[in-house]
Amino acid sequence: MNNWKTRTKLVHEGTRRSQYGELSEAIYLTQGFVYPSAESAQARFDHLEEDEFIYARYGNPTVAMFEDRIAALEEAEAAFATASGMAAVNGALFALLEAGDHIVAAKALFGSCLFIVENLLPKYGVEVTLVDGTDLGAWEAAMQPNTRVCFFETLSNPTLEAVDIAGVAAIARKVGAKVVVDNVFSTPIFQRALRLGADVVIYSATKHIDGQGRCLGGVVLGDKGFIRGPLEMYLKHTGGALSPFNAWVMLKGLETMDLRVRAQADSAIKLAIALEGNDKLERVIYPGLKSHAQYELVKRQTEAGGTVISLVLKGGKAAAFEFMNALEIILISNNLGDAKSIITHPATTTHSRLSAEQLADLGISDGLLRLSVGLEDAGDLLADIESALQSARA
Ligand SMILES: *Cc1c(COP(=O)(O)O)cnc(C)c1O
Repeated sequence: MNNWKTRTKLVHEGTRRSQYGELSEAIYLTQGFVYPSAESAQARFDHLEEDEFIYARYGNPTVAMFEDRIAALEEAEAAFATASGMAAVNGALFALLEAGDHIVAAKALFGSCLFIVENLLPKYGVEVTLVDGTDLGAWEAAMQPNTRVCFFETLSNPTLEAVDIAGVAAIARKVGAKVVVDNVFSTPIFQRALRLGADVVIYSATKHIDGQGRCLGGVVLGDKGFIRGPLEMYLKHTGGALSPFNAWVMLKGLETMDLRVRAQADSAIKLAIALEGNDKLERVIYPGLKSHAQYELVKRQTEAGGTVISLVLKGGKAAAFEFMNALEIILISNNLGDAKSIITHPATTTHSRLSAEQLADLGISDGLLRLSVGLEDAGDLLADIESALQSARA
């Protein structure tokens, strides 16, 4: 592996050039590969060398470029790219767990992650305990001799709570459990979960890696034994592979990701500071603010507060909707990490599947809005927000 800095890796790592010497990475839009002889087909099915491929569900040169580039960024031994972030989460958890095993997960999870943990895993005989991820004592108390996985998001969606990665890793290690981190909200730029003690890191590439709202994608990173072993076995036979075209979009997304994410986080902290104390707002939640409940932990394990801010409006759902409808630049949608700033009302959209009790337990109130800060001018965004807040009842 090269000793390059992040930006150099993001532009050059993993590149494979064909005999034409193309400057920009090629899209190998092919499902299959031909063999010079029957013997070489047999040999390839027997054993795959580094740059040999059989079928795009197993691997493809453009997909391999994306995998190698993000693995270099994360300093991971290996990566497997998936059709979506959820294919990555599903693949990692099903490859690690079997009937009779136990998983401990933070309860503040992305809706579909919660569905896999709460609804799917128990169907296959996996025991599940959900804990308050911010409480190391709760992780410790939940561990059992058969605990195989500790799973959490940090920062969490949409309340932006942080989980102490090194702390959970130390607890997990005592019973030999693997730590699986969904690192989407912190981005691969700001938080190196593997370095902090995670065994497996997952991304929805749909978010900051694409960063321009085009394609679905995901990736699982970890040690070679796991990625090229049980994970690849599970994903290549169950059809979760990333398409070569989407891999190319993600590969090009990586080239600009450091610049984009840093610009978005710079705007996010500016907006958070300017909005804190606004009289229409009950709270501004941003991990880079001193008022964040885990400011010290965030400072220790994450380089910046990220690209998402949560705002709690004083007037509940009515005020939140009035505010959203009055925004002119910021769009109502449910993606995040995009070049375009996006506002989401989790209680009625991304988290509407949860019961009133679950919502209350997770702190997802009727007045809570998730703001994904884009690449627009920060002054324009602040003016849009302040003017729309005027339209919202207190
Ligand atoms: C979006 C998201 C996912 C799922 O990713 P998809 O690409 O939509 O399948 C998983 N975890 C987190 C934290 C996410 O934000």
